[in-house]
Amino acid sequence: MKKGIAVSSGYVIGKVFLKTVEKIVIEEKTEIDIEEEKKRLENALDASKEQLTIIKDKTAAEIGEEEAAVFTSHLMMLDDPEFIGAALQNVEENCVSAEIAVTAVTDMYLSIFSGMEDEYMRERAADVKDVGERILRNLTGSISDGMSELEENTVVVAHDLTPSDTAQLDKSKVVGFLTDIGGRTSHTAIMARTLEIPAVVGLQDITSSVKTGDIIIIDGVEGTVIINPDADITRLYEEKKAALQAEKDKLKKLVNTKTVTKAGREIIVAGNIGSPEDIHKVIENGGEGVGLFRTEFLYMDRDSLPTEEEQFEAYKYVAEKMEGKPVVIRTLDIGGDKKLSYLPLPEEMNPFLGYRAIRLCLDRQDIFKTQLRAILRASAFGRIQIMFPMISSLEEVMSAKGILKECMTELSSEGKAFDGNIEVGIMIEIPSAAVIADELAKHVDFFSIGTNDLIQYTLAADRMNEKISYLYNPMHPAVLRLIKMTIDAAHKEGKWCGMCGEMAGDEAAIPTLLEYGLDEFSMSASSILGARQIIINS
Ligand code: PEP
Ligand code: MG
Repeated sequence: MKKGIAVSSGYVIGKVFLKTVEKIVIEEKTEIDIEEEKKRLENALDASKEQLTIIKDKTAAEIGEEEAAVFTSHLMMLDDPEFIGAALQNVEENCVSAEIAVTAVTDMYLSIFSGMEDEYMRERAADVKDVGERILRNLTGSISDGMSELEENTVVVAHDLTPSDTAQLDKSKVVGFLTDIGGRTSHTAIMARTLEIPAVVGLQDITSSVKTGDIIIIDGVEGTVIINPDADITRLYEEKKAALQAEKDKLKKLVNTKTVTKAGREIIVAGNIGSPEDIHKVIENGGEGVGLFRTEFLYMDRDSLPTEEEQFEAYKYVAEKMEGKPVVIRTLDIGGDKKLSYLPLPEEMNPFLGYRAIRLCLDRQDIFKTQLRAILRASAFGRIQIMFPMISSLEEVMSAKGILKECMTELSSEGKAFDGNIEVGIMIEIPSAAVIADELAKHVDFFSIGTNDLIQYTLAADRMNEKISYLYNPMHPAVLRLIKMTIDAAHKEGKWCGMCGEMAGDEAAIPTLLEYGLDEFSMSASSILGARQIIINS
């Protein structure tokens, strides 16, 4: 089994098509005829334009205008006097072949794009590479692999998929994508979501682990891949797939239904998100809010801390999309199993019990304040609520609230708008917090129970360790008692209590949680409708 980044959910059992690229071989020339090289370059540009126009029209007809827009930008690159001018100039001034000139200019643009702070712009380096390669292939006559003649039920496995690769695919035959590299905004991810087929990216070495013809399972929910599965696993996934589909079809009718129990109690069923784009799934599935925005993902997959402005844009985007529905933004929960390459943390014997989340933020107030300012500023654009993770004591709550207050004062003096009555809550995911929930409830507006951690800390059972997963039991009486204590403590102070750990979407646990009086259930978007159905039937 391999694990990567799940970028498009669902289950697939398909046949591998391993996309291999014929290497572009650039021959060294001893004598250069400048005029001849310029002519060759112009011919290659014409051929590239012709191919791209065909791909663009095909994409527009088969998928949509929006998806075809990327090829308009490729065509523009081929007409860009700076890009093409630089290549022609390179031939002339340095007396090099058209291939060498194009490679140099492409590399220069690639390094500019890859060095940009904005993740979206960084991903656009793939477009420059794609265009550069197309020109080179036309110059050298090396053919790109044939992805147009695929069999039914094909899972395309590639190091990376360029926009032109995906455009050439016969979409009716492709059921999934797997790539070595890529992130949530890579073309593969965008295309997979558009086509609504499962995809896992960032698998690192999937291209060297499979060959064409292998049978492969994609678990686009967990972000895992199983190569040549045995009959039992295949049957399991066939069942999962069929069950998922049948359920999806049936549940769609609940998208616009309010979540009210038989006794008339209104419940919020919300979605958990990790990136701003995830909000679309929450909306599609009728989420009544966002109960957990795991902001640490904004800090990952990059080379430096996100700026206040970048974060502000991300939070504002989500708040606006939710149109007044609540959005709980959790402050940075880094450390433990979540690491940042550019923020080296000391090696720890027990990272889950170590320097992480609010502990790190209270220590690194520069990082914390940048985020709090961004969240506050975004609160002027919707109904944002702030939540602090990994709270273990009242002192931490008071310190965090103190820093939040400082940020409010700063923003006021700068004349920047924010919601002065923003609700401030904490996660209850450490047993000590559950035990003193009665005290904590006096100082916050809400609780959200993080069962993923609460279970592991209560039962001393590492949530990542498969060997002891039998101990990791959400229905253990000790866990249930802590949950009940937390909900009761919140209600006694007139505060609401939600849950954003996986248990909230666990259909077997929902009736018990309802009975305990939980007010809000937050889960992955795909679980929302199932949970709603259980609640309205309870
Ligand atoms: C939790 O611990 O339940 C939780 C929601 O936080 P995370 O899974 O991000 O640790
Ligand atoms: Mg947690």
